[in-house]
Amino acid sequence: MIVALKIEKVREIVKKAKKKGKLIGFIPTMGALHEGHLSLVRRARKECDFVVVSIFVNPTQFGAGEDLHTYPRDFKKDKNLLKKEGVNLVFYPKVSTMYPKGFSTYVEEVSLSKYLCGKFRPGHFRGVCTVVAKLFNVVNPDIAYFGQKDFQQAQIIKRMVRDLNFPIKIRVLPIIREKDGLAMSSRNSYLSPYQRKVAPYLYKSLILAKELILKKRYSPSKIRKEVKKVIKENIPYAKIDYVEIVSPTTLRRIKKIDKGEILVAVAVYLGKARLIDNILVRVR
Ligand code: AMP
Repeated sequence: MIVALKIEKVREIVKKAKKKGKLIGFIPTMGALHEGHLSLVRRARKECDFVVVSIFVNPTQFGAGEDLHTYPRDFKKDKNLLKKEGVNLVFYPKVSTMYPKGFSTYVEEVSLSKYLCGKFRPGHFRGVCTVVAKLFNVVNPDIAYFGQKDFQQAQIIKRMVRDLNFPIKIRVLPIIREKDGLAMSSRNSYLSPYQRKVAPYLYKSLILAKELILKKRYSPSKIRKEVKKVIKENIPYAKIDYVEIVSPTTLRRIKKIDKGEILVAVAVYLGKARLIDNILVRVR
Protein backbone atom coordinates (compact mmCIF):
# COMPACT_ATOMS: atom_id res chain seq x y z
CA MET A 1 0.00 0.00 0.00
CA ILE A 2 1.34 3.37 -1.02
CA VAL A 3 0.70 6.53 1.00
CA ALA A 4 0.78 9.69 -1.13
CA LEU A 5 0.79 13.19 0.32
CA LYS A 6 1.03 14.99 -2.98
CA ILE A 7 -1.46 15.40 -5.83
CA GLU A 8 1.09 14.70 -8.57
CA LYS A 9 2.05 11.40 -6.93
CA VAL A 10 -1.58 10.25 -6.88
CA ARG A 11 -2.08 11.24 -10.51
CA GLU A 12 1.05 9.35 -11.55
CA ILE A 13 0.15 6.14 -9.69
CA VAL A 14 -3.48 6.09 -10.85
CA LYS A 15 -2.41 6.82 -14.44
CA LYS A 16 -0.14 3.77 -14.38
CA ALA A 17 -2.90 1.56 -12.96
CA LYS A 18 -5.34 2.81 -15.62
CA LYS A 19 -2.82 2.10 -18.36
CA LYS A 20 -2.85 -1.52 -17.19
CA GLY A 21 -6.62 -1.49 -17.65
CA LYS A 22 -7.43 -1.43 -13.94
CA LEU A 23 -10.81 -0.23 -12.71
CA ILE A 24 -10.28 2.43 -10.03
CA GLY A 25 -12.47 2.49 -6.90
CA PHE A 26 -12.38 5.49 -4.56
CA ILE A 27 -13.57 6.10 -1.00
CA PRO A 28 -13.26 9.66 0.35
CA THR A 29 -13.11 9.80 4.17
CA MET A 30 -12.14 12.08 7.02
CA GLY A 31 -10.31 9.25 8.80
CA ALA A 32 -10.90 7.87 12.33
CA LEU A 33 -12.03 4.83 10.40
CA HIS A 34 -14.60 2.30 11.59
CA GLU A 35 -16.56 -0.62 10.14
CA GLY A 36 -18.81 1.80 8.23
CA HIS A 37 -15.84 3.09 6.23
CA LEU A 38 -14.43 -0.42 5.88
CA SER A 39 -17.71 -1.70 4.41
CA LEU A 40 -17.20 0.78 1.56
CA VAL A 41 -13.58 -0.33 1.14
CA ARG A 42 -14.62 -4.00 1.01
CA ARG A 43 -17.22 -3.35 -1.68
CA ALA A 44 -14.65 -1.42 -3.69
CA ARG A 45 -12.20 -4.32 -3.36
CA LYS A 46 -14.84 -6.64 -4.78
CA GLU A 47 -15.83 -4.43 -7.70
CA CYS A 48 -12.56 -2.73 -8.64
CA ASP A 49 -8.94 -3.68 -9.38
CA PHE A 50 -7.31 -0.73 -7.66
CA VAL A 51 -8.67 0.91 -4.51
CA VAL A 52 -7.86 4.46 -3.42
CA VAL A 53 -8.89 5.90 -0.02
CA SER A 54 -8.43 9.54 0.89
CA ILE A 55 -8.10 10.72 4.47
CA PHE A 56 -8.64 14.44 4.80
CA VAL A 57 -10.43 16.41 7.50
CA ASN A 58 -11.81 19.04 5.18
CA PRO A 59 -11.86 22.47 6.86
CA THR A 60 -14.27 24.06 4.35
CA GLN A 61 -17.12 21.78 5.40
CA PHE A 62 -16.93 22.80 9.07
CA GLY A 63 -18.77 25.88 10.28
CA ALA A 64 -17.50 28.39 12.84
CA GLY A 65 -17.75 26.83 16.29
CA GLU A 66 -17.95 23.28 14.90
CA ASP A 67 -15.52 20.49 15.77
CA LEU A 68 -12.81 20.93 13.09
CA HIS A 69 -10.01 21.14 15.65
CA THR A 70 -11.20 18.34 17.91
CA TYR A 71 -12.29 15.94 15.13
CA PRO A 72 -10.67 12.55 15.93
CA ARG A 73 -7.47 11.88 14.02
CA ASP A 74 -5.36 8.71 14.12
CA PHE A 75 -3.51 8.23 10.85
CA LYS A 76 -1.32 5.35 12.06
CA LYS A 77 -4.32 3.29 13.09
CA ASP A 78 -6.21 4.16 9.88
CA LYS A 79 -3.19 3.19 7.78
CA ASN A 80 -2.96 -0.22 9.44
CA LEU A 81 -6.68 -0.87 8.96
CA LEU A 82 -6.52 0.05 5.28
CA LYS A 83 -3.43 -2.06 4.72
CA LYS A 84 -5.22 -5.09 6.14
CA GLU A 85 -8.13 -4.46 3.77
CA GLY A 86 -5.82 -4.57 0.75
CA VAL A 87 -6.15 -0.91 -0.21
CA ASN A 88 -3.67 0.07 -2.94
CA LEU A 89 -3.27 3.80 -2.38
CA VAL A 90 -4.00 6.21 0.45
CA PHE A 91 -4.15 9.92 -0.36
CA TYR A 92 -3.34 11.87 2.82
CA PRO A 93 -2.91 15.50 1.80
CA LYS A 94 -2.12 18.49 3.97
CA VAL A 95 -4.66 21.32 4.17
CA SER A 96 -2.20 23.55 2.25
CA THR A 97 -2.04 20.95 -0.54
CA MET A 98 -5.81 20.98 -1.03
CA TYR A 99 -6.27 24.69 -0.30
CA PRO A 100 -3.12 26.59 -1.32
CA LYS A 101 -2.84 30.29 -0.58
CA GLY A 102 -5.23 32.27 -2.74
CA PHE A 103 -7.72 29.41 -3.19
CA SER A 104 -11.00 31.02 -4.33
CA THR A 105 -13.09 28.54 -6.33
CA TYR A 106 -15.99 26.59 -4.81
CA VAL A 107 -18.60 24.11 -6.04
CA GLU A 108 -22.13 24.65 -4.81
CA GLU A 109 -25.27 22.56 -5.25
CA VAL A 110 -28.17 24.87 -4.61
CA SER A 111 -31.32 22.75 -4.40
CA LEU A 112 -30.91 19.62 -2.27
CA SER A 113 -28.50 21.53 -0.04
CA LYS A 114 -31.28 23.77 1.22
CA TYR A 115 -32.91 21.09 3.34
CA LEU A 116 -32.12 18.88 6.37
CA CYS A 117 -28.50 19.42 7.49
CA GLY A 118 -28.10 22.23 4.96
CA LYS A 119 -30.46 24.39 7.00
CA PHE A 120 -28.45 23.95 10.17
CA ARG A 121 -24.94 23.89 8.74
CA PRO A 122 -24.73 26.76 6.25
CA GLY A 123 -21.86 26.27 3.81
CA HIS A 124 -21.36 22.64 4.83
CA PHE A 125 -22.37 21.07 1.51
CA ARG A 126 -20.50 23.73 -0.43
CA GLY A 127 -17.38 22.54 1.41
CA VAL A 128 -18.28 18.90 0.76
CA CYS A 129 -18.94 19.43 -2.97
CA THR A 130 -15.77 21.46 -3.36
CA VAL A 131 -13.51 18.89 -1.73
CA VAL A 132 -15.17 15.89 -3.41
CA ALA A 133 -14.94 17.58 -6.83
CA LYS A 134 -11.25 18.25 -6.18
CA LEU A 135 -10.64 14.69 -5.00
CA PHE A 136 -12.46 13.32 -8.05
CA ASN A 137 -10.23 15.45 -10.28
CA VAL A 138 -7.10 14.25 -8.51
CA VAL A 139 -7.95 10.55 -8.20
CA ASN A 140 -9.93 10.18 -11.42
CA PRO A 141 -11.82 7.08 -10.23
CA ASP A 142 -14.28 4.93 -12.17
CA ILE A 143 -16.50 4.23 -9.15
CA ALA A 144 -16.79 6.22 -5.90
CA TYR A 145 -18.37 4.83 -2.74
CA PHE A 146 -20.49 6.68 -0.18
CA GLY A 147 -22.54 5.67 2.86
CA GLN A 148 -26.28 6.05 3.27
CA LYS A 149 -25.41 7.26 6.77
CA ASP A 150 -24.94 10.65 5.10
CA PHE A 151 -27.96 10.28 2.85
CA GLN A 152 -28.21 13.94 1.90
CA GLN A 153 -24.50 14.11 1.12
CA ALA A 154 -24.77 11.11 -1.20
CA GLN A 155 -27.76 12.63 -3.03
CA ILE A 156 -25.93 15.94 -3.44
CA ILE A 157 -22.80 14.21 -4.75
CA LYS A 158 -24.90 12.25 -7.26
CA ARG A 159 -26.47 15.51 -8.41
CA MET A 160 -23.08 17.22 -8.70
CA VAL A 161 -21.68 14.30 -10.71
CA ARG A 162 -24.65 14.47 -13.09
CA ASP A 163 -24.70 18.27 -13.37
CA LEU A 164 -20.94 18.69 -13.85
CA ASN A 165 -20.50 15.56 -16.04
CA PHE A 166 -17.98 13.71 -13.92
CA PRO A 167 -17.49 10.30 -15.64
CA ILE A 168 -17.82 8.51 -12.30
CA LYS A 169 -20.33 5.96 -11.00
CA ILE A 170 -21.61 6.64 -7.49
CA ARG A 171 -22.47 3.74 -5.21
CA VAL A 172 -24.36 4.34 -1.97
CA LEU A 173 -24.09 1.54 0.59
CA PRO A 174 -26.15 0.71 3.71
CA ILE A 175 -25.59 2.16 7.18
CA ILE A 176 -23.39 0.01 9.39
CA ARG A 177 -24.57 0.00 13.00
CA GLU A 178 -23.32 -1.07 16.40
CA LYS A 179 -25.06 -4.11 17.90
CA ASP A 180 -27.48 -1.84 19.79
CA GLY A 181 -28.45 0.05 16.64
CA LEU A 182 -26.36 3.20 16.95
CA ALA A 183 -25.07 4.18 13.51
CA MET A 184 -21.29 4.01 13.49
CA SER A 185 -19.64 7.42 13.32
CA SER A 186 -16.22 8.85 14.06
CA ARG A 187 -18.04 11.36 16.26
CA ASN A 188 -19.41 8.63 18.56
CA SER A 189 -16.06 8.86 20.38
CA TYR A 190 -17.25 12.20 21.81
CA LEU A 191 -20.03 10.46 23.76
CA SER A 192 -19.77 9.97 27.53
CA PRO A 193 -20.65 6.47 28.80
CA TYR A 194 -24.15 7.69 29.69
CA GLN A 195 -24.67 9.43 26.35
CA ARG A 196 -23.44 6.31 24.57
CA LYS A 197 -25.95 4.24 26.53
CA VAL A 198 -28.96 6.34 25.49
CA ALA A 199 -27.80 7.20 21.94
CA PRO A 200 -29.41 4.06 20.38
CA TYR A 201 -32.82 5.63 21.05
CA LEU A 202 -32.15 7.70 17.97
CA TYR A 203 -32.38 4.57 15.82
CA LYS A 204 -35.28 3.28 17.92
CA SER A 205 -37.16 6.49 17.12
CA LEU A 206 -36.59 5.83 13.41
CA ILE A 207 -37.91 2.28 13.74
CA LEU A 208 -41.03 3.72 15.38
CA ALA A 209 -41.38 6.20 12.50
CA LYS A 210 -41.17 3.33 10.02
CA GLU A 211 -43.87 1.38 11.85
CA LEU A 212 -46.17 4.40 11.97
CA ILE A 213 -45.59 5.16 8.28
CA LEU A 214 -46.44 1.59 7.29
CA LYS A 215 -49.72 1.79 9.23
CA LYS A 216 -50.72 4.54 6.79
CA ARG A 217 -52.98 6.04 9.45
CA TYR A 218 -50.90 8.97 10.62
CA SER A 219 -49.85 12.24 9.02
CA PRO A 220 -46.14 13.04 8.66
CA SER A 221 -46.50 15.82 11.25
CA LYS A 222 -48.05 13.42 13.79
CA ILE A 223 -45.22 10.92 13.16
CA ARG A 224 -42.59 13.64 13.58
CA LYS A 225 -44.13 14.52 16.95
CA GLU A 226 -44.01 10.89 18.09
CA VAL A 227 -40.36 10.56 17.01
CA LYS A 228 -39.43 13.71 18.91
CA LYS A 229 -41.23 12.38 21.97
CA VAL A 230 -39.16 9.17 21.97
CA ILE A 231 -35.96 11.18 21.62
CA LYS A 232 -36.84 13.70 24.34
CA GLU A 233 -38.02 11.05 26.80
CA ASN A 234 -35.03 8.76 26.38
CA ILE A 235 -32.14 11.06 25.53
CA PRO A 236 -32.61 13.65 28.29
CA TYR A 237 -30.18 16.37 27.19
CA ALA A 238 -30.54 15.93 23.45
CA LYS A 239 -30.86 19.07 21.39
CA ILE A 240 -32.87 18.18 18.31
CA ASP A 241 -31.78 19.96 15.11
CA TYR A 242 -34.48 18.25 13.05
CA VAL A 243 -36.76 15.27 12.61
CA GLU A 244 -37.94 15.25 9.00
CA ILE A 245 -40.07 13.02 6.79
CA VAL A 246 -39.15 13.78 3.21
CA SER A 247 -39.02 12.57 -0.36
CA PRO A 248 -35.64 10.85 -0.82
CA THR A 249 -35.26 12.42 -4.26
CA THR A 250 -36.13 16.06 -3.55
CA LEU A 251 -35.49 16.01 0.25
CA ARG A 252 -38.60 18.15 0.63
CA ARG A 253 -41.20 17.46 3.30
CA ILE A 254 -44.05 15.24 2.23
CA LYS A 255 -47.56 16.26 3.20
CA LYS A 256 -49.08 12.80 3.30
CA ILE A 257 -48.00 9.17 3.30
CA ASP A 258 -48.33 7.79 -0.24
CA LYS A 259 -46.95 4.78 -2.09
CA GLY A 260 -43.24 4.89 -2.85
CA GLU A 261 -40.09 5.63 -0.88
CA ILE A 262 -40.01 7.90 2.13
CA LEU A 263 -36.94 9.09 4.05
CA VAL A 264 -37.02 9.76 7.77
CA ALA A 265 -33.94 11.72 8.83
CA VAL A 266 -32.86 13.02 12.22
CA ALA A 267 -30.04 15.17 13.55
CA VAL A 268 -29.48 15.58 17.26
CA TYR A 269 -26.79 17.11 19.44
CA LEU A 270 -25.87 14.84 22.29
CA GLY A 271 -23.38 16.91 24.24
CA LYS A 272 -20.58 17.78 21.83
CA ALA A 273 -21.58 15.11 19.31
CA ARG A 274 -23.91 15.95 16.47
CA LEU A 275 -25.43 12.61 15.52
CA ILE A 276 -27.34 12.00 12.30
CA ASP A 277 -29.30 8.94 11.26
CA ASN A 278 -31.97 8.01 8.75
CA ILE A 279 -34.17 5.22 7.49
CA LEU A 280 -35.70 4.61 4.08
CA VAL A 281 -39.24 3.25 4.13
CA ARG A 282 -40.95 1.71 1.12
CA VAL A 283 -44.73 2.09 1.23
CA ARG A 284 -46.65 -0.38 -0.95
P1 AMP B 1 -16.63 10.48 6.90
O1 AMP B 1 -15.27 9.97 7.24
O2 AMP B 1 -17.52 10.67 8.08
O3 AMP B 1 -16.58 11.68 5.98
O4 AMP B 1 -17.32 9.33 6.04
C1 AMP B 1 -16.74 8.83 4.86
C2 AMP B 1 -17.74 7.95 4.16
O5 AMP B 1 -18.09 6.85 5.01
C3 AMP B 1 -19.05 8.68 3.83
O6 AMP B 1 -19.49 8.28 2.53
C4 AMP B 1 -19.98 8.20 4.89
O7 AMP B 1 -21.34 8.22 4.52
C5 AMP B 1 -19.49 6.77 5.10
N1 AMP B 1 -19.92 6.29 6.42
C6 AMP B 1 -19.72 6.90 7.61
N2 AMP B 1 -20.31 6.20 8.61
C7 AMP B 1 -20.91 5.13 8.02
C8 AMP B 1 -21.70 4.04 8.51
N3 AMP B 1 -21.99 3.91 9.80
N4 AMP B 1 -22.14 3.13 7.62
C9 AMP B 1 -21.86 3.27 6.30
N5 AMP B 1 -21.13 4.27 5.77
C10 AMP B 1 -20.65 5.19 6.62
